[in-house]
Amino acid sequence: MTVAMILNEKGRDVVTAKATDTVGDICKTLSEKRIGAILVTNAAGQIEGIVSERDVVRVIGKDGPSALEQSVDSVMTHAVVTCADTDTVNSVMARMSAGRFRHMPVVSGGKLVGLVSIGDIVKHRIAQIEREAAQMRDYIAMA
Ligand code: AMP
Repeated sequence: MTVAMILNEKGRDVVTAKATDTVGDICKTLSEKRIGAILVTNAAGQIEGIVSERDVVRVIGKDGPSALEQSVDSVMTHAVVTCADTDTVNSVMARMSAGRFRHMPVVSGGKLVGLVSIGDIVKHRIAQIEREAAQMRDYIAMA
């Protein structure tokens, strides 16, 4: 099972922002799009960072409401861990778990081609487990 299978189902759109956008802009987009993280890209579409709801909560907890005026550049994670669409779902799940983050941009041929969240992975794993259980039940019923 590869990451491409998840993207085939959920689509390849990725919500992005600019490094100069404010934390307030990020809150608005997170809320409107009902997502947990936004990828920060430059004019050429290259990944510059990732900002998640955790980063927003952390900076507001530290600086109070004035944090909403700060640029996202100062709160995002710059060293973004990415995966390929040919990677297995299990390997991505292991990397998310080890890195303690819930979002993974997908890069193919040097281009951003999607983003998977831990929610996408859990959904995919549950469907897989249910399929396997149904196959096992069918097998037992035939025996
Ligand atoms: P999350 O669990 O995705 O909300 O993110 C928790 C922390 O990890 C935040 O500081 C994010 O900026 C950071 N983060 C999220 N995804 C990634 C990623 N793919 N690579 C590196 N850092 C990440």
